Amino acid sequence: MAYTLTQWNLGELYPGFDSPDLQMAFDNVEEQVMSFEGIRGKLLPDLDSNQFMEFVRASEQTSRIINKIYAFTGLSFAADTQDQVAQTYMARVQQFAAEMQNRTLFFSLWWKDLDDKNAERLMNSAGDYRYYLEEIRHFKPQTLSEAEEKVINIKDVTGTGALVTLYDAITNRYVFKLDVDGETKELTRGQLIAYVQGSDADLRALAYQELYRVYATDGPILGQMYQSRARDWHNENIGLRKFSSAMSVRNLQNDIPDEAVDALLDVARKNTKIFQRYFKLKAKQLGVKTLRRYDIYAPIANSDKKFEYDAATQMVFDSFNSFDPQLAGMAKRVFDQQHVDSEVRKGKRDGAFCWSVLPDMTPYVLLNYQGRARDVATMAHELGHAIHSMLASHHSTFTYQSSLPLAETASTFGEMMLTDKLLAEEKDEAVRRDILFKQVDDAYATIMRQSYFALFEKQAHEMIQKNASVNDIAAAYMENLKEQFGDAVELSDEFQWEWVSIPHIYHTPFYVYAYAFGQLLVFSLYQQFKMEGESFKPKYLKILSAGGSEAPAKILEDAGIDIRSPKFWQGGFDVLDKLVGELEKLK
Ligand SMILES: [Zn+2]
Repeated sequence: MAYTLTQWNLGELYPGFDSPDLQMAFDNVEEQVMSFEGIRGKLLPDLDSNQFMEFVRASEQTSRIINKIYAFTGLSFAADTQDQVAQTYMARVQQFAAEMQNRTLFFSLWWKDLDDKNAERLMNSAGDYRYYLEEIRHFKPQTLSEAEEKVINIKDVTGTGALVTLYDAITNRYVFKLDVDGETKELTRGQLIAYVQGSDADLRALAYQELYRVYATDGPILGQMYQSRARDWHNENIGLRKFSSAMSVRNLQNDIPDEAVDALLDVARKNTKIFQRYFKLKAKQLGVKTLRRYDIYAPIANSDKKFEYDAATQMVFDSFNSFDPQLAGMAKRVFDQQHVDSEVRKGKRDGAFCWSVLPDMTPYVLLNYQGRARDVATMAHELGHAIHSMLASHHSTFTYQSSLPLAETASTFGEMMLTDKLLAEEKDEAVRRDILFKQVDDAYATIMRQSYFALFEKQAHEMIQKNASVNDIAAAYMENLKEQFGDAVELSDEFQWEWVSIPHIYHTPFYVYAYAFGQLLVFSLYQQFKMEGESFKPKYLKILSAGGSEAPAKILEDAGIDIRSPKFWQGGFDVLDKLVGELEKLK
């Protein structure tokens, strides 16, 4: 059967917003929470382990329903961001989840407060839930009283939560104007970015100038929102919770030791020369003296090769299949169950994502498929995510999803398998070269760019504590770019506003290093795969099927990887160094 561009079917979640099932789900959660509130008096240090597990499973049941409600609402909204009903439900679900969380908060507080001996006793019989329970206790020193925690939760809905929603609302309605072939086009950011990656050098410059013209106009306001976000982060996490630094909040949530993240960022800083060499090479390929910042994603060949949707799915299945047929089977299941929304539609969210709802439910994948080589790579990427979660489906709802830094493993690995397949089949030298250069472009965007975002965030959070103005922060951002690019790339002034255009630093502070983490990890895993062949496969599948059931450092340690060691991270950069070296040798 040929696959065609379609919308997904959310029927497995709920039939619709007006369905009695959905209303009943809200009621069920309320009932379950009310009954859970009744266990409060039973929480004593010598609690029987069977009873304890009953409570844990009861809270898992409630989470399952909330996950479903949240997924149905979020996926409906992504499918049509202009849908008023979906918009209203988004706010309702957030408020509902915060209220339910507050009413059941006493359980995790009791658990964190329990003495080590009894906690160990209960964890010993918790099986797959063990790591989840351990993780909650990691936050014990930073936990406040029940009353304080409740106030933070409820004030966050209309405080930080609302601030971030406003940031999205303001920036999502931006319209960008670009003169293309004598015609002024009005574009969304996603449409504008296509010109940034296009082959016309003048349009690349104009597109970037327009992008940051619009952001700079609101620069002082967006910058002020960022200052508030950073101050709130500091007030809560350092002021009240006593975390040691702004970044260590995220590190603890990722369960990655501070030293590992510091090692990663230090090593990245020492390797800026690799990409600087690459940008000089790219300048030569494009026939210019120095690469402008506008040109770093420029294609080096004019290949407009298009891929039919059905052929693309086949290529992706084939590349998974050559690694392990069970992976291809899982990828196929996502399509066969109509869990893919692939067509481009007005009002639909830009970009792509994979949403895992429950361990026993096939994940949902959103694409905006336009037939470019990039779109095929994105398809492999998102299906990699889906496979990761399907391989971990034997874990509980609390332990199947991997922590952030491991979350990009299967997706990036999937993309690399696809690239290898494309290279093996492509006869046209120009297209092959374009594929290889794109691979380094992407590596730049995920490794160096994201590492420098993280370094910037660190600096900006510190500066804001010292009352830096928005202009001070913009100047610091410019310095950050200069260090990153050296003399290899010509910067223009408008890039000082790039940081206010990065949603991640508003939404999830210090999220970005997870990208660099994931990509470098995959480089070194892929290197192992090429050297070891068949014997590597079980090791890799074991990493994926662990999901989030153990600490990332532990999962990787079992595969012989030490994330605290600068040598490990350097290994990832060495792969890149070799790749750039090979490109330099090409005629
Ligand atoms: Zn991803």
